[in-house]
Amino acid sequence: MVMTESQLEDFIRCEGWSDFGVVSIEEVKQALQKHEGVFEQWLASGYQADMDYLERMQTDRFHPENKLPQVKSVVVLLAVYSSDADGGSSGGTDGGALQLDPQLAQRSGIVARYARGRDYHKVLKKKLISLSKWLKAQDDSVETYLSVDSGPTVDRVLAETAGLGFFGKNSMLIDPRKGSYFFIASLMVNKVLTPTPKKQMPNCGDCRKCLSACPTDAIRAPGVIDARRCISYLTIENKGGIPIELRSKLGDRLFGCDICQEVCPFNEGRASQQKVMIGPLKVEAGVGESLDLKEVLRIETDEQFLERFAGTPLMRAKRRGLLRNACVVAGNSGDVSLIPLLKQVMECEEDLMIQEHARWAIERLEG
Ligand code: SF4
Ligand code: SF4
Repeated sequence: MVMTESQLEDFIRCEGWSDFGVVSIEEVKQALQKHEGVFEQWLASGYQADMDYLERMQTDRFHPENKLPQVKSVVVLLAVYSSDADGGSSGGTDGGALQLDPQLAQRSGIVARYARGRDYHKVLKKKLISLSKWLKAQDDSVETYLSVDSGPTVDRVLAETAGLGFFGKNSMLIDPRKGSYFFIASLMVNKVLTPTPKKQMPNCGDCRKCLSACPTDAIRAPGVIDARRCISYLTIENKGGIPIELRSKLGDRLFGCDICQEVCPFNEGRASQQKVMIGPLKVEAGVGESLDLKEVLRIETDEQFLERFAGTPLMRAKRRGLLRNACVVAGNSGDVSLIPLLKQVMECEEDLMIQEHARWAIERLEG
């Protein structure tokens, strides 16, 4: 291709990406081959919960040539998402997390950092399309395949192979200088691009902070997450009820969970220092670090939910999932002023799962 490496870098930096790496498809295939075995073991342990689609997608995810047969290089890109508006839990993590006002915390549910803005898939996809168009403008025979967040592991494998970070015991990709609060996107290209130099990476060493801090013991071994116990899965992807024995452990986590990242020394001080690098990923639609439980419990219809959360990652849980989570967090809040609203939910909702979660919360608050 006629463009130089510095032209590519300039374009990527101007677009607001925090970092990037270029890696050959041979290196990617080697790394994916290694991780496919680990992934299969993870599936065999049942740690994927009911995310059956992960198994179905496996062939494509681990075989990039299925998506772009002539793929020669992969550009892997990072976008930091932690922002000045970030806060942490009132639940006592020790990784530099900000504390919520105690009164607000009592009736609020924490929203995971990544979800405090517009749906990142759309924002990053636009950025990838822009990069793809730019490459095609340099050479009209360029073909690309773009991917944002291609599952629980593959995007991280690509980023690790491109030298952008290392796998932490919390299973996140960690850039020693930037921490782990970032999205990963990738662009496969049918041209040989000059690989970027790999940075020397540290590892977790003796640290086990994330394993100790995880409230549900979801980190079964370093780097191995059991989704069935993970609050991120239970409050977002999970379509069923939240297991009773785990409900109290959710604490105030309404949507997702960052605890194993908040305690990570590589993220220390990130919450107040980092800026959102990709412009549109700002706190929008009123989704900040937390949501008022009363507001969530009062959302009676899918239309109201849509009006409030359209275009945000909270749509993933749908009204049913968010209401279920709000009942659990309300039950954990100790705030008895929520009982009348919970009773209203129990009486008015037809969904048996929601009724049961509301009942659990009332009994916990009364008990
Ligand atoms: S996201 Fe939360 S529940 Fe899941 S492994 Fe990390 S700390 Fe545990
Ligand atoms: S908390 Fe410690 S063990 Fe866990 S990912 Fe961070 S450095 Fe690694």
